[in-house]
Amino acid sequence: MNVQEKTIEYGKNSQIHISINPNFWQLCKPFQQVSKDDFLSHRWQVKHTVYGFEAINTFLRSVASSDVVEQVLLGLRLAPMAVRLTPYILSRINWLNPIADPIRRQFIPLANEYEQDHPMLTLDSLGEQEDSPLPGLVHRYPNKALFLAQSHCPVYCRFCTRSYLVGQDTHTNKKVQYEKTIKHWKEIFKYIDSNREIEDLVVSGGDCYNLSPKMLEYIGNGLLEIPHLRRIRFATKGLAVDPTKILSDREWTDTLTRIVDDARKLNKHVAVHTHFNHPNEISWITQSAAKVLFERGITVRNQSVLIRDVNDNFDTMATLIKMLGDMNIQPYYVYQHDMVRGVENLRTDLSTNVNLEKRIRGITAGFYTPTFVTDCPCGGGKRVSCSYEYYNRSSGVSVYIAPSIKSDRAFLYFDPLVSLAPDIRKAWLNPDEAQELCNEALSKVNCISSEWKNSYLNSIASLVQLRN
Ligand SMILES: *Cc1c(COP(=O)(O)O)cnc(C)c1O
Ligand code: SF4
Repeated sequence: MNVQEKTIEYGKNSQIHISINPNFWQLCKPFQQVSKDDFLSHRWQVKHTVYGFEAINTFLRSVASSDVVEQVLLGLRLAPMAVRLTPYILSRINWLNPIADPIRRQFIPLANEYEQDHPMLTLDSLGEQEDSPLPGLVHRYPNKALFLAQSHCPVYCRFCTRSYLVGQDTHTNKKVQYEKTIKHWKEIFKYIDSNREIEDLVVSGGDCYNLSPKMLEYIGNGLLEIPHLRRIRFATKGLAVDPTKILSDREWTDTLTRIVDDARKLNKHVAVHTHFNHPNEISWITQSAAKVLFERGITVRNQSVLIRDVNDNFDTMATLIKMLGDMNIQPYYVYQHDMVRGVENLRTDLSTNVNLEKRIRGITAGFYTPTFVTDCPCGGGKRVSCSYEYYNRSSGVSVYIAPSIKSDRAFLYFDPLVSLAPDIRKAWLNPDEAQELCNEALSKVNCISSEWKNSYLNSIASLVQLRN
């Protein structure tokens, strides 16, 4: 590594790596000869995106030891998500120490890191498919909805909450696929148009970076025509994993700007929601791209996922929040990691979330302080993490209620098995004992119907049985 590259260790596991080298990608062997013009071109980024088993194998052999490569190839066989990485994000990994690297952990699995899944984990832990009145639309909250416009992203994150949908099939996971077709979108517009209570729409997927300017325009215009729809957010991880697009894909950036401006004339608000998890994702290129959006008057908010040994410590989270604020990006949410299968080594227990929030609140302006939320399994929606009705740190069960969404039910979150004592870990693998651990927690909440409670406890037992 070049002497100009500084690695600063802030506290445990933070691995914050502040790069002052303007051509930082040239420190990564496969990009050593890549010029600034090429690297800053969005077309070049797409063309050189590392996609699939063979490509990642070739890439890794030039940057990592054979031990690491072997662990990755084995890890990919178990993974629920396909691998896809832009040169930009690959160049932000410290290849001198890929095992500890916080970006590597988010995207590239190692077989020897795998942990036993908690028996309650699923691929669609939020129960999105149950709250979908038609394919590609999740309507869970009374006045807001989520539109899954297509199912691909510029990169694939290991921990994706939509593992059931996003990306190519993997060895262990066959996906639902939504097509990028006008016919599909028209049906969605029609549904929103005839459900006048919907005022707020998240356009996600998949990622809006993967919509061409024409598709973006078609969706933007179609939605702005719906009179009762007041707020639209376009979700993209793009700014974090390929900021060059904002700078070099003028047609896309101009289309987005036009939609934002048209909305403003209608007294409506269109914003971008992005997804940074670690300060190392941010470079001078990101800062330039964020500045373009800010200058064009585009509101950008950030949603992070709390990930074990990536950003679950004060120094990393505080630095991330500060760097986002400096780019005029509002830190909106930090999510408790969803209960998705196959990535158990990335989940933290709930107490990590609650304790981190306590330390973070107060370090900066309130409007630049993210809300720490838990998106409740089985469709309870997002709740402020520390607002649980009950939390038993020894069984790892926390209980939330969601009166505005589903008022006669409760929603349980389960800490990862490794965070529990050995006898409790064992209890979770037994249907009767697992049921008892849930029953203990549910008995502390009195607003739920006994009918729901019984059917929930039965489903727990059969899920545990199924996993064994
Ligand atoms: C997150 C989410 C929304 C938006 O919720 P906010 O709290 O307003 O950001 C809407 N619908 C679904 C299904 C969601 O998961
Ligand atoms: S960018 Fe978002 S939708 Fe795409 S893989 Fe990552 S978490 Fe999933």
